[in-house]
Amino acid sequence: MNHTIFKEIDKPESNCGVFGIYNHPEASLMAYYGLFSMQHRGQEAAGITSFFYDEAKQKMKYANHRGPGLISEVFSNPAIFNNVLKGTAAIAHNRYSTTGSTVKTNIQPFNMIYKSGIMSLAHNGNLTNTIELRNKLLEDGTIFQTTTDSEIFMHLIAHSKKTTQLEQIIEALNIARGAFSLCILTNDSLIGARDPLGIRPLSIGKLSTPTGDSYVLASESCAFDIIGAEYIRTVEHNEIVVIDQDTVKTGEIKSYKINPVTPDKCKNCIFEYVYFARPDSKIFGENVDKVRRKLGKNLAAESPVIKDDDDKVNVVPVPDSSNTATLGYATENDRLNYPSKFELGLIRNHYVGRSFISPGQDAREIKVKTKINTVKGIMNGKHITIVDDSIVRGTTSKLLVKMIREAEPKSLDMRVTSPPVKFPCHYGMDFPSKEELIANHYENEVEIGKAIKVDSLKYLSIEKLIDSVPKGENIDYCTACFTGEYPIPIEDNSDKYSTES
Ligand code: SF4
Repeated sequence: MNHTIFKEIDKPESNCGVFGIYNHPEASLMAYYGLFSMQHRGQEAAGITSFFYDEAKQKMKYANHRGPGLISEVFSNPAIFNNVLKGTAAIAHNRYSTTGSTVKTNIQPFNMIYKSGIMSLAHNGNLTNTIELRNKLLEDGTIFQTTTDSEIFMHLIAHSKKTTQLEQIIEALNIARGAFSLCILTNDSLIGARDPLGIRPLSIGKLSTPTGDSYVLASESCAFDIIGAEYIRTVEHNEIVVIDQDTVKTGEIKSYKINPVTPDKCKNCIFEYVYFARPDSKIFGENVDKVRRKLGKNLAAESPVIKDDDDKVNVVPVPDSSNTATLGYATENDRLNYPSKFELGLIRNHYVGRSFISPGQDAREIKVKTKINTVKGIMNGKHITIVDDSIVRGTTSKLLVKMIREAEPKSLDMRVTSPPVKFPCHYGMDFPSKEELIANHYENEVEIGKAIKVDSLKYLSIEKLIDSVPKGENIDYCTACFTGEYPIPIEDNSDKYSTES
């Protein structure tokens, strides 16, 4: 019997998570925990590389373990941390493939031994000039081992005529264009870098160990919490930070620029706040929880749910990514004198992982039902407003509405804490094509609401989305999936690049 395998409900797939640690006696184990806390950023594969000093050979070496699957599956043998992944510095990566396939060679970190020593690299983001760079490198005789854009960094660094590893990295990052947050291990340092517009997040943390302070880099600060590290700051856009033995001695994190001229404003990915990042994380220097509550609050102020009887409205999040914003929505709606209550009317099954669908079953319906179920007592005979962070294809929303209608609510409205998603992402998030996005099939939200079969549907406006996120002299946002205004030109469909047919 043929079965179809499926993974996620109808959301853009998150890109990847990166982690790096320097000067820790159990570096690879800390990297494992860091990856564990960022499992939501990629579930297809994971890897850790550690650097250690080989006394016998009197030189630095690297050890690596990578594999497909969840962190717990890839690192199921604890002996690997002591016996293989030795050393006091490590970087790690969990992967959702936005370019290239899931073949083992594509799993990061990527490692190399080259003229200047050893290097390992983990990348979150997508380049926008991959094809141009790859063709140039191929003409120069480069042999590629993978089908990902991330490998290009390694070749650009290896081809550089500069003397030091830091200079080689800076040169390579000036040639690459697009979105990149990187963790790199060199012979003697841990390096973190964010592209000139700082699209993807990367933060710095610190923890004390018996051998002095240890420094950590991670896509999200939830990776610091799990290992007891304190958050220090975000890596700025266009910044390269170098953590080495001097840093351990003096506490100074060396900082360099990628491009000599830093753009006035960064372009942080606004969707990280809306959906991707964990609510208990800090990204781009701000707590995600705080922003999500404001998204919900602003949505209630813009589009409250008003009923003409005295019954309270049960405001129900689509779990789990909408939980925090829904709290904001329910509180504000109630404060505006439209009696409302936050209710957990949809329950998510966290233990599904990948499931199979028998031929003949409605694939989409069973997919949603294995993940989410309704709490009938909360729905039956009540005013229900479901709050979601985004609608992509609309397939899950339609099925959820069908499930809730079976519980016979008095009314059923929907609110979305972001504007309609109309454009794909070229900077490292895997969105469906433009044609597949439900917002491109209908004139307006009234029509989309009718298609989803809710009594009313309201999205957050782009103005209120911007109002919800942190402001600052140098801070701006990429909003391209809502507005089509791409801050970095898409040169050659690089994000869809793959050598496979
Ligand atoms: S297009 Fe959307 S998801 Fe992609 S970086 Fe911009 S805001 Fe983020």
